[in-house]
Amino acid sequence: MASLLEKIKSHCGEAAVVGAELASGRSVTGYGDPAGAVPILRPASTDDLSMMLKACHAEGQAVIPLGGGTGLVGATRAFSGDEWYVSLERMREIESIDPTSRVAVVQAGVALERVHHAAADVGLSFPVDLGARGSAQIGGLIGTNAGGERVFRFGMMREQILGLEVVLADGTVLDLMYKVIKNNTGYDLRHMFIGSEGTLGIVTRAVLRLRPELPVCQTAFVSVDTFDQVVELLRRVELGLGGGLSAFEVMWPEFYHTILDHNPGTHRAPVPRDGGLYVLLEAELGERADDQLLYEILIELFEEDKVGEVAVAQSTSERESMWAIRNDIDALMSSLYPAASFDISLPIQDMEQYVSEVRATVLKRWPHAKFLAFGHIADNNLHISLNVGDNTKTDHFVEINDVVHEPVIARRGAVSAEHGIGLDKRRYLKDSRSPEVISVMQLLKQTMDPKGILNPGKVLTPSD
Ligand SMILES: Cc1cc2nc3c(=O)[nH]c(=O)nc-3n(C[C@H](O)[C@H](O)[C@H](O)COP(=O)(O)OP(=O)(O)OC[C@H]3O[C@@H](n4cnc5c(N)ncnc54)[C@H](O)[C@@H]3O)c2cc1C
Repeated sequence: MASLLEKIKSHCGEAAVVGAELASGRSVTGYGDPAGAVPILRPASTDDLSMMLKACHAEGQAVIPLGGGTGLVGATRAFSGDEWYVSLERMREIESIDPTSRVAVVQAGVALERVHHAAADVGLSFPVDLGARGSAQIGGLIGTNAGGERVFRFGMMREQILGLEVVLADGTVLDLMYKVIKNNTGYDLRHMFIGSEGTLGIVTRAVLRLRPELPVCQTAFVSVDTFDQVVELLRRVELGLGGGLSAFEVMWPEFYHTILDHNPGTHRAPVPRDGGLYVLLEAELGERADDQLLYEILIELFEEDKVGEVAVAQSTSERESMWAIRNDIDALMSSLYPAASFDISLPIQDMEQYVSEVRATVLKRWPHAKFLAFGHIADNNLHISLNVGDNTKTDHFVEINDVVHEPVIARRGAVSAEHGIGLDKRRYLKDSRSPEVISVMQLLKQTMDPKGILNPGKVLTPSD
């Protein structure tokens, strides 16, 4: 394969290839998995990538598209060990921002955080946000159809993509770079690539939909006794805010207590610790909005005995300290180390029973286990993290996965809400999708990538 690398270098320049010796130390997943001693191809343009894939296709050389390497399901981990990486790190230009059409045209290697800043500079916002914002790239976010905290209001990555440019396995470039919201001109091929984890094509550019930056932000932390009250709280604020609710994060008590206790002095409890559940909620509203609206709704609920304690942030720093509890993933991971973490979806009415059932199964099987649940809830997404001892990620890992995922499948939820299938969840795809659906997926993969050179082993293999 040395001649293939030389051919790529002579066409695209020396910087287009990082040799195996330099690549091996690089982390390629959110869990720090190393790349291995394989070359990394680094296109500087769509033409470069087209040439690279055409050449790889001719030689049957498999590649793994790599964004920021923050994905959480092993979708950028090697499958056979013979794959090369294609990193979009040199394609990181924000080409234009148009405040009139409210769109940004960006290259796939741009980090999410840069899009946030560029949009804010013209009074707009890009609504997808997540903890890995500094490293996760637009191409990777599209590859995983990432979600985050504001999905309930603004949708996942899919809803933010107006246009795409994609290079197919054989180097063909698909120009789908439109800037309009309505476009029913034949099959909408964008959606085939969003969430396909780099198995059908590599995204090089995108047209992102931007939203107005809303000036009024109200944040509150609330305790409630029961899950029914969580649902009532959600429906009442949803109605009262008239579409202005942008985050609704629920934490079960073990989560709240663990984060508060892990590094004493780091967090101040916004509400007392005797609640049955805790909710962090946020409203983003227009400039004429009543700046006490969320507070008024919560006080009404308090007077009706529908919520316990209520804390409303009075300053940006109070808001930040409330969010710091929900987002203290470092405390979560170190208090549960080694932790098995899950990202599932369920109808909201099944959540309480599901959490109680899985917690009970876990504690019966591993009486000393630590089990935490939290999630975005309003968009059906729950996260579970647990530790059953030092062997959590080794001897017990498969059994833990079954304990968490089987009741999800039985309730027709999703074993992946926002992280994807990658390598780690492939085992559950067959149980989650009917044979007819799997065979259409196989047909799609076979049509788009007949030689199987794009991210092999991820999502599904020909024998699945
Ligand atoms: C601290 C932390 C918090 C997180 N929070 C959330 C969260 O709230 N919500 C959420 O949804 N996810 C979350 N994630 C995981 C999330 O999936 C990733 O952060 C992000 O979507 C992946 O972007 P990336 O650039 O790192 O992609 P990578 O990890 O590099 O790749 C992810 C997938 O996309 C493919 N890919 C990469 N680039 C391209 C491209 N140009 N074209 C086609 N395919 C490509 C890869 O092959 C792979 O299949 C979190 C991760 C971390 C570490």
